[in-house]
Amino acid sequence: MVNILAERLANSKPINKDKFKKGATKLYLETYGCQMNVADSEVVISILNKEGFGLVDSYKSADLILINTCSIRDNAEQRIFNRLNEFKHLKKQNKSLLIGIIGCMAERLKEKLIEKEKLVDLVVGPDAYRSLPQLVQKAESGQKAVNVLLSREETYAEISPVRLSKNGVSAFVSIMRGCDNMCSYCVVPYTRGRERSRNPQTIIKEVQELIDNGYKELTLLGQNVDKYNWNNGSVKFADLLEMTAKLDPNLRIRFSTSYPQDMTDEVLYTIAKYDNICKYIHLPVQSGSNAVLKRMKRGYTREWYMDRINAIKTIVPDCSISSDFIAGFCSETEEDHKDTLSIMKLVGFDYSYMFKYSERPDTYAAKRLDDNVPDEVKSRRLKEIIELQNYLSLVSNKRDIGKTFEVLIEGESKKSSERLFGRNSQNKVIVFDKKDSKIGDYVMVKVNECSSATLLGEIVDN
Ligand code: SAM
Ligand code: SF4
Repeated sequence: MVNILAERLANSKPINKDKFKKGATKLYLETYGCQMNVADSEVVISILNKEGFGLVDSYKSADLILINTCSIRDNAEQRIFNRLNEFKHLKKQNKSLLIGIIGCMAERLKEKLIEKEKLVDLVVGPDAYRSLPQLVQKAESGQKAVNVLLSREETYAEISPVRLSKNGVSAFVSIMRGCDNMCSYCVVPYTRGRERSRNPQTIIKEVQELIDNGYKELTLLGQNVDKYNWNNGSVKFADLLEMTAKLDPNLRIRFSTSYPQDMTDEVLYTIAKYDNICKYIHLPVQSGSNAVLKRMKRGYTREWYMDRINAIKTIVPDCSISSDFIAGFCSETEEDHKDTLSIMKLVGFDYSYMFKYSERPDTYAAKRLDDNVPDEVKSRRLKEIIELQNYLSLVSNKRDIGKTFEVLIEGESKKSSERLFGRNSQNKVIVFDKKDSKIGDYVMVKVNECSSATLLGEIVDN
């Protein structure tokens, strides 16, 4: 779930208050966690904007503060509690200020959130955003307002999100919600409910709007995009990819997250067929040990995963591959950990997101398995995984030196306003001198140098 795009946009501070009516009720919204939360925040703004709420970029002037939250690991939740503490003094200064917790933490903790944190006025789960205007009204009358009902149908299909992306170049498009996989460690099925796919016509309409508004890249989002299924298989994920790719050859299509059990060759052939479907797949393996994968209830083996990797390398040879890893899952032995390091080397991942196992209440693992790997062992294993990934990323980046890539420019380099950065199809960040190019342009960039995180290059003629 957490990838580079999410890191760029998660925790994003609201922007562009000028989009909203003057004198509107001032809304301040902070987003934590995954890309899906960023996409949800865009829906929330759209819903509230229609009711006269305008987004402001400082919580100090807000009438309503909403925090869109993540529950995936304990430290994600602790961060929110710390943030709430920082808001405490505001309530003393402004008695009518309302504070709402929305998203996964709202769903997981429900009323308990209000009992624990008296300053919280609203608690709204991921499927209840349409009721936000009524809930705010209720909270304004001095009552605590809670809606954490999960839905089997809600996809916010026809709501046109108000984009938070600052660059006007890349956007998220949610294609499904929830997850039915029930991996034993994961809280998502409890916080985001059952899996459901969004009507493809509304997806295509949203993508067309993005094209009309000058966007150049979109990421189709779902917890397991390979299970996208509309109307009993009449539109599957491969079909949806093809439908979006055909809309405009200048629009880049990305997607996240793929699931090893469900990723078909048909999807890979579709990726290979269209130049504008990016050659990058995030295929989280979590562990290289069959015993651990079984306890995680991931539904595939190391051998199955390697078969999918080989299929990617055969059908989409220039594809980059990234993964997620969890270090120190219940009863993970030193041998299991070595299996993880060995699968990393075998695949040669270009990038990874790596985490220490964090037990989440009410999951199968919390109820039935023992969180018995000591914290210092988890930390040491995580460190080894990170060090190996840094090495693998450097090897992967070094292979690109001398190659020329088409890059979509996303912004100015943090280090110099004379330099720009963008990504190639493989999702690698490339930094280069500006020349006369600008954000949103496609340019050809030759790679001259690299670190494990970034490629450095220069614009060359086509
Ligand atoms: N649906 C995607 C998948 O299955 O690959 C990812 C969703 S999850 C929200 C993002 C990542 O967080 C997972 O791939 C996993 O590595 C990590 N994660 C989930 N639950 C975790 C836990 N309890 N402790 C540590 N990491 C966890
Ligand atoms: Fe969680 Fe597994 Fe669903 Fe991913 S596929 S969201 S890890 S339950």
